[in-house]
Amino acid sequence: MLPIAKSILLICAVSSISGTVSHYFYGISFTGTFILTTIAQLVLGYFVNTYLDSKEIVAATNQQDFVNEYIETHAATANCAYCGAANLIPIIPDGNNDFECTQCGKQNAVYMNITVAQTTTPVDMPSYEISNANPELHKIKQQIISNEQ
Ligand SMILES: [Zn+2]
Repeated sequence: MLPIAKSILLICAVSSISGTVSHYFYGISFTGTFILTTIAQLVLGYFVNTYLDSKEIVAATNQQDFVNEYIETHAATANCAYCGAANLIPIIPDGNNDFECTQCGKQNAVYMNITVAQTTTPVDMPSYEISNANPELHKIKQQIISNEQ
């Protein structure tokens, strides 16, 4: 059964029951109660559906954000070694990162290279110098030079 037909039947059933109950127990018009109950159900249904839809949109957006964040931290773009097509591949530091190209279907091996760089020093911090000069060695060298003379 179509969902819309099921909803209409349910609304009519609830309205008929409330109309019958109000007519037999309270003497109120069946038609008036039927119409009022139907309108109330439609209005209530509209607000409930709007609320559920907005809740679903928020949940879908949060899930999409999570997936995007996960891809940003756990995947990288790599060009195929055969055809050069860009592929989004998962990066597992201690795993096998080989991938099959989505364009040509050939198997690619992945080799990771670790690059080390100095972190930048904040502007308001005192700068420091890196020196290979060892003061102890420098003193010994000066002593040797002065002994030779
Ligand atoms: Zn390829």
